[in-house]
Formats: sequence, structure tokens, C-alpha cells
Amino acid sequence: MAAAAEIARMSRERPPYYWQSLDFQKLMGEYPPPPAFFNTVYRMPRPRLRNLQENRFRSQIARAWEVPFYQRRWRAAGLEPGDIRGIGDLTKIPPYTVLDIRDSIARSPPFGDFMGVSPADGRRIPLVIQTSGGTTGLPRPMLYAPQDREVMAILGARRLTMHGVRPGDLVQVTRSLGLANGGFHVREALWKYTGAVPVMTGSGNVTPTRRQIEIARAWGVNVIVGFPAYLRHMAIVARDELKIDPRSLGIRSLDSNLGMEDRGAIEELWGAPCHDFYGAHESGMIAADCAYRNGMHVQEDAFIVEILDPETGKPMPQGEKGNICVTSLYKYSAPLVRYNINDVSAIMPGACECGSTLARLERIFGRSDNMVKLRGVNVFPEAIGALIAEDARSTGEYFCIVERSGEAGHDEMTVMVEVAGCSVDPGVFQKDLERRLHEALAVKLAVKPVQRGDLDQYTGVSQVSKVKRLLDKRQSDSVR
Ligand SMILES: [Zn+2]
Repeated sequence: MAAAAEIARMSRERPPYYWQSLDFQKLMGEYPPPPAFFNTVYRMPRPRLRNLQENRFRSQIARAWEVPFYQRRWRAAGLEPGDIRGIGDLTKIPPYTVLDIRDSIARSPPFGDFMGVSPADGRRIPLVIQTSGGTTGLPRPMLYAPQDREVMAILGARRLTMHGVRPGDLVQVTRSLGLANGGFHVREALWKYTGAVPVMTGSGNVTPTRRQIEIARAWGVNVIVGFPAYLRHMAIVARDELKIDPRSLGIRSLDSNLGMEDRGAIEELWGAPCHDFYGAHESGMIAADCAYRNGMHVQEDAFIVEILDPETGKPMPQGEKGNICVTSLYKYSAPLVRYNINDVSAIMPGACECGSTLARLERIFGRSDNMVKLRGVNVFPEAIGALIAEDARSTGEYFCIVERSGEAGHDEMTVMVEVAGCSVDPGVFQKDLERRLHEALAVKLAVKPVQRGDLDQYTGVSQVSKVKRLLDKRQSDSVR
């Protein structure tokens, strides 16, 4: 009897089919993927672009008013529906950070109230869940509706095409496959909108690094996508363990989120250009550099990017560094309206040689919440990494430990650095690097040379795709 009832129910309840969930033709016109992107949005005159942003901004605000998180926060700030009429009113809206998202999750577990959908809406819209690549606690969840997922894939395809991916290419993706969005996002972008074939090797704990290199060689991979530390690790494993010159693999291009990492060192190892991008799992692909590799073009048909003063929260003038604050223009499930990501960058003045009209973000200087205040000086671990990468006597791997020592409570940072080979004199290397860090950062740090591979237990570089660089023992034993 029960089985018969279940069969009757099964034959009645119709799930929402993905292929019917969107008007794909309309979407292609609104968010053109490559190659149309390069003849439209990429070169759109600024007034037209602004007009497009205004229209999308108004729809995004209307959608945000349907989400409890924004209703609560905006009402508390004295705003009512209708008060935000255009981009000019943006600064009336209070920005929020990841702490507010965590608070939202704590208020209404397990998914928070910042998404306008819940898993039960899967009955009417196909939904998928991915998360941040968080290293402490539960990762932050994000439900994506088809509109979110497809536009993200298009934005990703634009980035990958700007980075040299062409139809018919094989692209090896060394980003993690699991809850984190990093790997799947790239797979969808490549597969659906570039004509290239994704090779999803995942990070080093999914496919060991030696095997990754063997696959790249045997299958004739053209482009590799990965975190900078992993791209460097792969090249060194190829060269030193497998005795394969990474340059002989014929990799045409590399795609990474470089931040402060030394692009030149990675390009030298692989003999290929390394391209930079910037995005977050909540937002999708915000910006990517072009062939000129001089700043990252913001996808302004999908985002409004502001740079905020970390102290006052006020927008900064062009060229000045501050926190990246993003407003999405395309999201359905969880619109982002003034999300302060706390990554430090600046909008570059002037136009790019490539002829694009899209604004450019400078490289990402570091996370302002990863920033360590050391005896009154702001220190970014990422900036330390960039200085270390300049020294050929190191593998580029490093890990920073901050401690409060002595009765006076003096804050000290020790930077452990891997030396590249046995021909390096650790004493000389230590002195040279300490001097270099002191002159560049205006604060004294202790350097401790260690053997190759010794830092893996701290950073996880051979295993995970998001490496750790800092342990601040003054606050807690949390690793960032
Ligand atoms: Zn350009």
C-alpha cells in the first residue's frame, strides 16, 4: 500500500528542469560570453555602460528588499523601499562584511537569512550549493539559482578567454573539487562557454602532483589553472623530482589569482605568461587582466566596485588603496549590495592599452583582516611572500608566526623560509633576507631558514589548494 502511494506521488511531483529554468537566448544578449563580449561590454562607451548599470542596479535593489538580511539591516539604517533610486544613492546603504554573514548564519542556522532562497525552493528552481574555501570552522554556504550560476560561468569564460584559453584547448584545473566553488566554477565556465575541454585534476590531494605533471605531458595540456603557490610547487616537482623541464611541456598560458605573488618567478619556471584575476565565491569573477597584464578589468556589466577607506568606510579617490566593496548587478538568490570583501586594492587611473573601456583594479595587496599590526606597522603576509619570491635561494615557500614574548610583551614575527638547495649558506641567506624585509617593510622580522618540504605541515601546499601563511599566537591558535 505504502509503496503504491509513493509511486503515485513520484509520478505526480515534477521537478524543475534546468534547461527550462532560464531564457538562455535572452541571457546571451544581456551578459555576452566570448567572443561577443569583446565587441560589446569590453569596449562599451562609459555613458552607455553607466546606463546599463543603473537599470540593473534598480532591479538588484528591488530583489534585495525581498531578502530578510537586507530588510533588517536597511530598516535599522533608516531606509525604506524607494529610498534607493539609483547608483547615486549607493553610499546611503551600510556596507557589510563576512562577520555580518556569519551573524546571519548564527541568527537563522544553518543557512542564514542572507539568501532569498532555501533548499526547499529546489521544488521550483534547480539549486546548487557551494561554499567558501574557509580554513576554520564550517565553510560559508551559498545557494545558486540558474541565473547566478550561468552568469558566473559566462564571467569566468570571459576571464579564461582573456587569459589565452581558446576553443579546442585542454585546460588543467588544479583547484579543489568539493564544497568549495573554485574548481566547479572553472569547469562550468570552460565547458559551457569557451569551447575548451576542462581536465579536472583538482588539488594535490585529489591527484598527486607527480601525476598532475604526467597528465599534462601525456595529454598535451595547453593551459593550467591554479593557485600561485601550487603552480610554483608543480614546476619545482617537475624539474627536481621528475627531471622534466616544465618549459618543455609546452604550456601556453597560466591562470592564477596572483595577489602579491611574484608573477615573473612563475613565468620563468613555466616559460609562459601568468594571468591574474580577482573573484570571491559569493560574487563570481569580478576582474581579470588582459594580454597587457597591467591591472585587472572589472566586469562592470555585472558589478559595481568601490574602494573604501578602511578607517572611515568612505569611498576613496581613484588610485588610492582601500578595501574592495562590491555590489552585484545580476544575482537572484543572494544579491550582494555593498559587500566589503576586506581585500586591499585600488582603481587604476588612465586607460588600458588594449582599448577596453572597463575600469581596472590594481593587484590585490592582501586581506585587511589578514593584516598584522606589528609594533605599530601594518604587515601583510602576502607582501612578505612577494619579497621572498624575489630571492632565488628560496623555493618561495614561507610561513609566518607572530608571538608576544618577554615580560614587556614585545610582538615578534618569525618568518620560516624554505631554502632551494644544499648549496645555499643558511646563515648568509638569513642575514640577507632579514635586511631586505627590514628595508622594504620598515619593521624587523626574524628569518628562520628551513629545508625544502619542511613547511608543508604548516602551509599544506602539496595537498590543499588554499595555502596557509600565518599563525597569530597573540589572538588564538587559528591558522590563516
Ligand atoms: Zn586591457
